[in-house]
Amino acid sequence: MLWALPCSIVGLALCLVLVLLGGSVRRVGHTFEAALTVQHLQVPRWARQLDFAAITLGHVILGQSHDVLAVLRSHERVHVRQYERLGLFFFLAYPASSLVAWLQGRCPYAGNRFEQEAVAQVADNPQAP
Ligand SMILES: [Zn+2]
Repeated sequence: MLWALPCSIVGLALCLVLVLLGGSVRRVGHTFEAALTVQHLQVPRWARQLDFAAITLGHVILGQSHDVLAVLRSHERVHVRQYERLGLFFFLAYPASSLVAWLQGRCPYAGNRFEQEAVAQVADNPQAP
C-alpha cells in the first residue's frame, strides 16, 4: 500500500475532480472506485468520447460509471497489483512499454506489456476480483 501511495495520491486528487463534477467514490476491497455516474447510460457525452472507460492510479480506479467499473474490475485490479510491485516507477514503465510497442510498429495499448499481463490474467481467471 505504501509503495503505491504516491500514485494513489494522484488518483485521489483526480477523485476529487470527479466528485466536483458530480461523481461518487466507493470503497471496494482495498481500492477506491470513482465514477461520474452510477449507470453508464447517464455518462455525459464528453466523457463517453474519451479513449478509455477506466484508468487505475495506485489503489484508485477511475471510470466513466460504476457499472463500467464493475465490469472492468478484474482487469483494473491487475493494474493495482502492478502499482504495488513497481510503485512510482509504474508511471515511467507503463508509457515506456507503450513507446517500445509503438516503435516496433505495434499498437501502444495492445502492445503494452502491462496491458497484455492484465488481459492474460483476466483470461486465465475471469472470476478473480
Ligand atoms: Zn488496462
